[in-house]
Amino acid sequence: MIKVVFLGPPGAGKGTQAERIAKKYNVPHISTGDILREAVKEGTELGRIAKSYMDKGELVPDEIIIGIIKERLSQPDVKERGFILDGFPRTLAQAEALDKMLEELSMPLDRVIYLNVDDEEIVKRLLARGRADDTEEVIRNRLRVYREQTAPLIDYYSEKCILAEVYGVGDIDGITKKIEEFLGLEG
Ligand code: ADP
Repeated sequence: MIKVVFLGPPGAGKGTQAERIAKKYNVPHISTGDILREAVKEGTELGRIAKSYMDKGELVPDEIIIGIIKERLSQPDVKERGFILDGFPRTLAQAEALDKMLEELSMPLDRVIYLNVDDEEIVKRLLARGRADDTEEVIRNRLRVYREQTAPLIDYYSEKCILAEVYGVGDIDGITKKIEEFLGLEG
């Protein structure tokens, strides 16, 4: 059982690393970005609302995202195996809501992995990725939103003594290995 949050700027490689850890240790990988993109693809009401924010690089309102996560964390696979959260929490209000949910589930977080990547590298990566919300203007806004709303979570989790910082540039396998060390999963 592992209970982990991946934190870091857009394009840090959270999705890639979270997916690898989730597969290897058979833990549910919960990506709010993936959930929202799926809803957009299916053309649901949620998708329609989410798209209007995602297209501008803005955050989807807290109460919508918190509702999605609450529902997902109540599933039996989470109770059995834990979770890897990728893209949530992204605001202080979301972090506080998560604390409350996990307290109710008696499932405290083990670790928050902070994947740190330089701004220049981020813009380069996102432009190369070319997703619908990866235009230069939207990327710039996502980075601003990250700095203003998400970066304060680094201090929030650091004060709880569960933060582990991993530099997210370089060999992908090497980065995975470092994360595994911090999670006590090596070997
Ligand atoms: P990135 O690759 O930039 O980290 P994601 O794939 O995680 O982006 O998310 C894409 C978009 O989905 C975000 O820019 C945001 O609009 C929305 N989103 C994802 N997670 C959240 C969240 N926890 N709170 C608010 N909005 C979110």
